[in-house]
Amino acid sequence: QNFGPTDLNEVVTRTMRLIQNDVPKEMNLAVELDLTVPKVDADAEQLKQVLINLVQNAVQAIDTSGGRITVRTLKPDRFGEFRSNVAESVEVHVFDTGPGIPVDHQQHIFVPFFTTKQKGTGLGLAICQRIVKNHGGSISVQSKPGEGCTIIVRFPALPSEQ
Ligand code: ADP
Ligand code: MG
Repeated sequence: QNFGPTDLNEVVTRTMRLIQNDVPKEMNLAVELDLTVPKVDADAEQLKQVLINLVQNAVQAIDTSGGRITVRTLKPDRFGEFRSNVAESVEVHVFDTGPGIPVDHQQHIFVPFFTTKQKGTGLGLAICQRIVKNHGGSISVQSKPGEGCTIIVRFPALPSEQ
């Protein structure tokens, strides 16, 4: 493990550059960065692994339905300034326009060996969750079947330097 102040935008950019050739041409892979997100205390190699797993799932989901993938960084809504004393956090969203995840599967997808794929290991999201929790963060799913899938990864932000 090699933790340290890490720029999520930089990790996202580098990882997407690394894997863009493995994403089929007909899929639109877009990156939307919030350039103002604070840094996080993280191991960039492990974050890269999380992103690769999530994009791989998105590619596999789209495979049967055509569509696009968006990787996004952002600061989550903080419900107004009166809560500005709460710890800041940063999110990475991986969205795809695939078939989405049935509601009754959503509670199982992070469990090791849960897979709906013929040759799936069911380990991708379990590994993502282990890494994210190890960073003090959380991972969740937001999906309405037929409207695609968003995996939301949230990390505590480091205090901004200034
Ligand atoms: P695997 O990819 O080997 O099946 P994962 O842990 O990566 O294992 O994913 C577990 C399951 O979660 C998948 O089999 C699939 O049913 C569901 N899933 C994950 N990501 C997506 C996605 N983007 N769209 C639809 N279903 C997904
Ligand atoms: Mg997977």
